[in-house]
Amino acid sequence: MNTVVSSSNISVYIHVPFCRQKCSYCDFLSWPQHEEAIPAYVDDLVREINLYRGVLAERQVSTVFFGGGTPSLLAGPEIRMILDAITSAASMLPDAEITLEANPETLWEEKVMQYAESGINRLSIGLQSTHQHLLQFLGRMHTVDDFYKSVEWARNAGINNINGDLIFGIPGQKLQEWKESLLDVAALKLPHLSSYGLTYEEGTPLTTQMEENRFKPVDEEHEWMMFRHGIQWLQSKGYHHYEISNFAMTGFECRHNINYWKNLEYIGLGAGAHGFINGVRTENAKSLRAYQRMIYSNEKPIVIRQKVSRNTSISETCFLGLRMREGISNKAFLNRYGTSLSDVYPVEIPRLIESGLLESVDGSIRLTEKGIDLSNQVFIAFLLDE
Ligand code: SF4
Repeated sequence: MNTVVSSSNISVYIHVPFCRQKCSYCDFLSWPQHEEAIPAYVDDLVREINLYRGVLAERQVSTVFFGGGTPSLLAGPEIRMILDAITSAASMLPDAEITLEANPETLWEEKVMQYAESGINRLSIGLQSTHQHLLQFLGRMHTVDDFYKSVEWARNAGINNINGDLIFGIPGQKLQEWKESLLDVAALKLPHLSSYGLTYEEGTPLTTQMEENRFKPVDEEHEWMMFRHGIQWLQSKGYHHYEISNFAMTGFECRHNINYWKNLEYIGLGAGAHGFINGVRTENAKSLRAYQRMIYSNEKPIVIRQKVSRNTSISETCFLGLRMREGISNKAFLNRYGTSLSDVYPVEIPRLIESGLLESVDGSIRLTEKGIDLSNQVFIAFLLDE
């Protein structure tokens, strides 16, 4: 059975691995204080896009996502150069969603205007909290006011599709403060919000400080209360809880991320970027030097290529799909794999339904509210042996 996903549409992810300074909790691939390397990096991205002309010529680009790092360190004309390179290599759908992740301290009015003129139609702004002491704890460089101004500039530039990123479970964060952050961003009527619990990644300064007992992490129950409050409160304000950590007004769900959660194809450009094309997962060179060397040799800077087996593809489709509240459609699964969900998981699905973690609704299976709380336990049940 062929598990290759064929689709004439494709998403493009562009990684920008530069930041002003490193936030204490961050383990993303990004380097602080390397901004002088950005112009050459933009040229490299354009070259890399040209290396994908073959793939791009056959597809229509439905979404582009500049992620990082801090993509808003790029100037408006640099974003335009990259988007022009994509549109000269591929046809872009007229309603393509083009997102740029931005940190408030790197924005100003004219720059946001230039982004809009270059084609950016969605901004995802890292706010994290509307409490200055919590921003400081996280090592964020911006103020709350910077965020408010960014939203205003985006709207003035005609970008109304705006996401605000929030973090809960920050040491020292009171439930009341979390409620206030939600209240503050909802008052702005942003059409999309992401809400993630703080995680302690290996090797970050935050994790080291925790291991040295320099602060007390939020206990699990307190964090769960914040998570649950966020879901209930945002739903009461008209947000649709469409993925475990994401909320949107109808029509503003992030199409790029939905593409990931549906386990569909995308090209990954830039140092360390991941891609998924023709059934093969790819990973680009992480070091800037290695990335540039390969680009200059006219070679795609891919250092890992892994053909996805049928079982891995099924497992991924299930645990990514279950992140979305709509779950996995039995029909879509059958069309993609030629077999039904119940044939692949004859024991697991009934057991998870019986224990109240999954439910079957309108021809789909999806997590229950209890299943959302215990999602990792559910995802493990969908892992198939190779
Ligand atoms: S701005 Fe984002 S990518 Fe950069 S260090 Fe902070 S969390 Fe990491």
